[in-house]
Amino acid sequence: MNAYIERVIEDVKKKYADQPEFCQTVEEVLSSLSPLIDAHPEYEENAILERMVVPERTIMFRVPWEDDNGKLHVNTGYRVQFNSAIGPYKGGLRFAPNVNMSVVKFLGFEQVYKDALSTLPIGGAKGGADFDPNGKSDKEIQRFCQSFMQGLYKFIGPDVDCPAGDLGVGGREIGYMFGAWRRLTGSYANGALSGKDPLFGGSAFRPEATGYGAVYYLQSVLEHEKDEMKGKRVAVAGFGNVAWGVCKKLAALGAKAVTLSGPDGYVYDPEGVVTEEKINFMLEMRASGRNKVQDYADKFGVEFFAGQKPWGLKDVDIVMPCATQNDVDLEQAKKIVANGIKYYIEVANMPTTNEALKFLMEQKNMIVAPSKAVNCGGVSVSALEMSQNSERLFWEGEEVDKWLHRIMKGIHDNSAEAAKKYGLGYNLVAGANIVGFEKVANAMVKQGRAY
Ligand code: GLU
Repeated sequence: MNAYIERVIEDVKKKYADQPEFCQTVEEVLSSLSPLIDAHPEYEENAILERMVVPERTIMFRVPWEDDNGKLHVNTGYRVQFNSAIGPYKGGLRFAPNVNMSVVKFLGFEQVYKDALSTLPIGGAKGGADFDPNGKSDKEIQRFCQSFMQGLYKFIGPDVDCPAGDLGVGGREIGYMFGAWRRLTGSYANGALSGKDPLFGGSAFRPEATGYGAVYYLQSVLEHEKDEMKGKRVAVAGFGNVAWGVCKKLAALGAKAVTLSGPDGYVYDPEGVVTEEKINFMLEMRASGRNKVQDYADKFGVEFFAGQKPWGLKDVDIVMPCATQNDVDLEQAKKIVANGIKYYIEVANMPTTNEALKFLMEQKNMIVAPSKAVNCGGVSVSALEMSQNSERLFWEGEEVDKWLHRIMKGIHDNSAEAAKKYGLGYNLVAGANIVGFEKVANAMVKQGRAY
């Protein structure tokens, strides 16, 4: 590994020993950049790596909120504005009990390169709170969102930082936060948040964007391999918003998702999740709040495997984990390889453990696509929402879809080209890191040494 990279990774690990997730992602990203850093001595002269690993600004704030019984609770809110070299900060807000500074910094660091990869002019940020939305009433969620925005509103805006949703934050929460933002600022700057309802500035296709984008990326991979989408059988994990978009687009292109999974296990539907009834039922399952994929098996009379993951199946061609982080460990990865599956397309953020990812990437006949690139459709359509808000226009769905398709193809092609240029073959993981990093680093060099 390049000595400069090694030194910075060691420094980060020493300095931020109490932030394991952040250290892990810094090591992951930087260690794939050796050929790029070797070729650019000006990065070291300009201390680019040292600057990259320190956020431009971190905000931490108190979020007091009252439950339905009048009891006051206090949570901690975060926004890490990591890098704005190529555009205003952009990235989601996550509400989950395990949110802390290390997790938000890890997600923010990844977001910088994901957003740069999107080919759109957006910087990287991430935020959230250690608040568990499960089991909260609608009024409690509303009060929490209003208090959260009270802490955050001074630091965001359409030309500064545009937060969006992430785990635990969907259209409803964005609506409540946007209402609070308007009240606090007295302005209708709807580009301050994305993922809004189209009634007040949201974009067409935002809910579908991540899933559709992932399938467009897959399409590019198949084209590269002179293979085709038609007839492909796909093991999908998850049944939420992202999996829904994936199933819908796979079906539209003549492929089929044959599994869905949830915290309770997985279902196997040999006919595929292809009919409108089945695809719409995914939305119903989510709205029910039961969080059980078994409901699908009960409704459509297919097999349900309690407590299992869908990675042992033999009659699939493609694997797309769309659920949670670390869904595929080494043991599961070995099953995937033993079944001769060629395409491993990460969709959820970090769905693969480091060990498993390394193992999969070592396989000669396997193509691994990284989530940073594959799930980029969500943030990309968010950036298109910002454009629409600036123009005070609403683009037709067809227009947004065309953009999304073009963006995802660009991400794939740019990553493949960069990997090739640096002698790494068709390594989409390293290629994505190189493209994202190079764009931000060059922008920083050109803007001088003081930021
Ligand atoms: N949370 C999503 C992501 O991590 C979307 C972010 C956004 O739309 O700004 O990419």
